[in-house]
Amino acid sequence: MLNKNGVPSKDLILSRFPDNDILVKPKAITECYEEIPCNPCSTSCPFHAITVGDDINTPPQVDFELCTGCGICVYNCPGLAIFTVQIKGDYAIYKIPYEFVPRPQKGDIMDAVNRNGDVIGQCLIEKVTFGAKQDKTALLQVQVPVTLLHEFITVRRPL
Ligand code: SF4
Ligand code: SF4
Repeated sequence: MLNKNGVPSKDLILSRFPDNDILVKPKAITECYEEIPCNPCSTSCPFHAITVGDDINTPPQVDFELCTGCGICVYNCPGLAIFTVQIKGDYAIYKIPYEFVPRPQKGDIMDAVNRNGDVIGQCLIEKVTFGAKQDKTALLQVQVPVTLLHEFITVRRPL
């Protein structure tokens, strides 16, 4: 369940992650817990890997067999509630949505931030994608220590 401050509980977060052996390939994680009438994640996925169901209020479910981790749903989600993640050795490689400007650049070292807004470490911006189809949402590919796998959620420019 969501805590009173709107931050999901650890159990809720873990319920959206597959086992680590599945994350050797990139997979979409949906942190969309409320029943809301919304489905661009499902309609934008070219691999039919996200299902909302007949009732549009049903929270989305990812089929990890079908998901390629392409990241298209990440920038199509109006709630910024999706990211992808892949485990590569000592690192977790995320693709996260990012709407602030100025946007980070490839090679930047940023603060890694958790769901409470706390800085939990540092991370490397590996790639920034911002195409015409992405409206105002950039896609950041971020290298994060794998120890932060279930903690990391976004980046912040160091103070
Ligand atoms: S990452 Fe790509 S394949 Fe996976 S659910 Fe999102 S759009 Fe579909
Ligand atoms: S598009 Fe985003 S906010 Fe809407 S149902 Fe999908 S994950 Fe939730």
